[in-house]
Order: sequence, then C-alpha cells, then structure tokens
Amino acid sequence: MTMKLNQWILSFLILMIFSFNSHATQIELIRLQDSYPEQIQSVSGNSIVWKDGTHFDVVDTNSFFGNLFSGLSFKNKKENSISIKDLQCDSYESIFKKIYGDSPSAVSKHLVTVYWMPNVFGKRYPLKLTSINGIDKKIQRISAQLEKLPPSYFKYLKDVGGSYYWRNVKYENYLSAHSFGIAMDISTHYGNYWLWDLKKAKHKSFTLTLINSIPKEIIDIFEQEGFLWGGRWAYYDTMHFEYRPEMFVRNAASRLEYNNQLGLRCVT
Ligand SMILES: [Zn+2]
Repeated sequence: MTMKLNQWILSFLILMIFSFNSHATQIELIRLQDSYPEQIQSVSGNSIVWKDGTHFDVVDTNSFFGNLFSGLSFKNKKENSISIKDLQCDSYESIFKKIYGDSPSAVSKHLVTVYWMPNVFGKRYPLKLTSINGIDKKIQRISAQLEKLPPSYFKYLKDVGGSYYWRNVKYENYLSAHSFGIAMDISTHYGNYWLWDLKKAKHKSFTLTLINSIPKEIIDIFEQEGFLWGGRWAYYDTMHFEYRPEMFVRNAASRLEYNNQLGLRCVT
C-alpha cells in the first residue's frame, strides 16, 4: 500500500512538471508569434511554422531528472529547432539565425547604414543595422527623439560603441545580438559593463550589483521601440540596447513596459 502511494505521488509530480512545462511553453510561443508577425505564421505545442513554409521543431530537452539538474544540457544547437528550455530562458539564437541570417554574409545582405543623431553629430557615427523588422527605421526614430532631449544628455550618446559585429558574447558560446544587426551600444565612456567593473575592483569585494549613469529618459526612448536595455541583465551592460519586442508587454496606456518576470528566470 505504501509503495502504491509513493508511486502515485511520483506520477503526480511528474505530471505536474510536464503540464507546467507545456503550459509555460505555449505562453512563450504565443509571445514570439505576437512579437515577430512578419516571420511567424503560426505556433502549436511542438512547432513554429514560418511564413516561408518551413518549420521549427520545439524539442523537449526537459525531463524529470533534467529539471532536478537543470542547466546541464539545455543549450540546443540543432538546426531548425529550439528547445523548451531555451524558449523558457529567452535564449533565442536559433530563432534569430532564422529571422536575421545564420552567417555574416546572410546577415550582411540586409544591413544598412544609419547615421546616429546626425543633427547633433553629423556623419561621425555610421551604424550598421538590419532592415529586417524595420530595425533601421526604429533606430532612426529613436535617434530623432534623442536629438530633442536637452543638450546636457548628449554626452551619454556620443563615443558610440558599435552596432553590427558577428561575435560571441564574451566568455560564452553563443552569439551576441550584435551579430544580427539588431543591437547598438551608446557611450562607452558613461556605460558600465560588469566585466570592466570587476576588473576595476581588482577582483576584491566585487558584488554583481547594477552600477549605472545612463539617464532613465534615454532608456525610456529605446524601450518604447522594443529595445531591451543591457542594464536589465544581472550581468549588466548599460551602454547596450537590442531589439527584443518579446520582452515587453503593453500597459493600459499603450506604452511598452519591460516584463521583469522574463529573462530573470534562468539567471545562474
Ligand atoms: Zn552591445
């Protein structure tokens, strides 16, 4: 009798874990479809159907033991698929490769030059950004909005760090958003990057707490166009912005609000 009860409890727990996962995954998939309507035709429990007629498998790498030892094997590197764990951790490299291009030459086909705040800086800062999802136009709108701020803000917007650059995130094995032409860095002088702060602290008594001098007005202007600020990350990078509409929800006043339930779930 005791054995049976134990087995029943175990079965119930496994069922709970799986139903939680599939429910969570459905939310992630709908969030993606809403965010990328130009590319995604439809989503179902185990696939993403693209408008070009191809599809992605949603691979379940979670298991009862996988949940107990989560993080050991979740990075899914298979082509034309994404794992449930990557979906839940907002780790979208395979999706971005599909949307923006899976190699430097594929991404480059869509890159255009946008001059950053040209009425203030002239042609000093040419940015290379993708035209996919109108990202070049969004940055132009952001640039025009920022030019309207009082001139005292401009020091945070010069010494621009960069835009398109095919590379991995430092010390990680996945591509930075810069690789897809969907990201830019504003002032390298006023920006704080956790690794630089760690070096400055000479590895003594460093705690990973946000250090920031970028004004909220600047962050708001980027976020209203769906650009995620790198200061939102535990491993902060306050000069960095990348186009991640799936990380925002629209509030009653129709303004985009960062959903802080997302992105933080898988911080290790
Ligand atoms: Zn960056």
